[in-house]
Amino acid sequence: MKNLTRRDFSLTLGKGLIATSLLGSSNLACATEVGNQKKKLGVALVGLGSYSTYQLAPALLDTEHCYLAGIVTGTPEKESIWKDKYAIPHSNIYNYANFDSIINNADIDIIYVVLPNSMHADFCIRAAKAGKHVICEKPMAVSVAECDAIIDACKKANVKLSVGYRMQSDPYTNEVKKFVRERTFGEVHFVSSDAGYISQGNPDQWRLNRELSGGGALMNMGVYSIQTSIYGAGGNPISVTAQEFSTRPEYFKETDETITAQFEFVNGAVAQMFTSHNANGNRLKCHCANGWFELDPAHSYGPISGRTSNGNVISFSHQSQQALQMDDFAKHILLGNPNIAPGEMGKRDMIIVEAIYKSIAEGGKKQNLDLGEMGIVS
Ligand code: NAD
Repeated sequence: MKNLTRRDFSLTLGKGLIATSLLGSSNLACATEVGNQKKKLGVALVGLGSYSTYQLAPALLDTEHCYLAGIVTGTPEKESIWKDKYAIPHSNIYNYANFDSIINNADIDIIYVVLPNSMHADFCIRAAKAGKHVICEKPMAVSVAECDAIIDACKKANVKLSVGYRMQSDPYTNEVKKFVRERTFGEVHFVSSDAGYISQGNPDQWRLNRELSGGGALMNMGVYSIQTSIYGAGGNPISVTAQEFSTRPEYFKETDETITAQFEFVNGAVAQMFTSHNANGNRLKCHCANGWFELDPAHSYGPISGRTSNGNVISFSHQSQQALQMDDFAKHILLGNPNIAPGEMGKRDMIIVEAIYKSIAEGGKKQNLDLGEMGIVS
């Protein structure tokens, strides 16, 4: 942690109290007790690719409760660029080989893993073993077994874990959840959810390489469709049936290009999801007993846009989703606020991903899901 430099931090914490909260205390009185020093949590980004460079690092300048304290990179040339741009001390710069020595660095409270999907589990587990809280980018891992291993490692180390589901912190998403919860337009009967873009360029990029990505559009964008289907319907599905299509098999050699899937919910409601690396899609529409509401776009970096059947526009002033997301996690650590994107949510989505691939492999056979309330945060 370090003294505040950019914005006032609404919490002021005494040193001993910080240690208590970092060890997992959820004691609000503890965290708000006044000390003389104003503190923020130090975040180290692991993997300085496009998401870290263009979204997370700039967002960390806008967070109230955390700041960019360190970096972990396999590219030596990036070290001095980031060091100068973000005033990162040399002692807070790591590579993949010396990463584990981060255990000795008191500046780093949270390790944020922003690497290709198949590397998430290894680095999240090492981060937990170093005693640091963990944010794991989406998709949480490339299998349910890996999600379990990350969750277990964080539990064992008594550190907090969240998945980089920025939409869970977005006000539009939370407005939709409120419509569903309060039945503003009556019970939801049908949800339509699209998430895709047209992949271009180098066919050797890691997202098209099964070993590094774990899968194609479904792993990358499909998790958004799964998430919107769930918060659009207001609960976990009880079954899924899925289909896969391809119009560019020569480009998508190893990974899925386009997938559609249908979810059934316990009340008989249905969600139809679409995800693709070869067609654009960015929309959520919920058809209810007494009207409808939609977000379009539904999950880009913003501004999001929404409307309802009663002619209203859903509108909020634009804020960085990534800043909101990292602050929400910091408040979970510091104040014991709910973890709005816990590891169990990432694991639930990976159970659904595996069920979708299984349905496709079995020629579109329906897969029953027994998720209960897993990953649901109200
Ligand atoms: P990227 O290709 O831009 O960056 C990947 C980084 O990993 C690079 O710094 C690269 O050097 C490093 N790397 C280490 N080993 C590598 C290897 N063997 N092959 C390729 N790169 C390697 O990717 P990105 O867009 O920054 O995505 C990183 C992670 O963040 C992914 O899990 C992705 O799903 C996630 N992501 C999330 C969002 C979101 O909105 N939450 C948006 C973009 C990406």
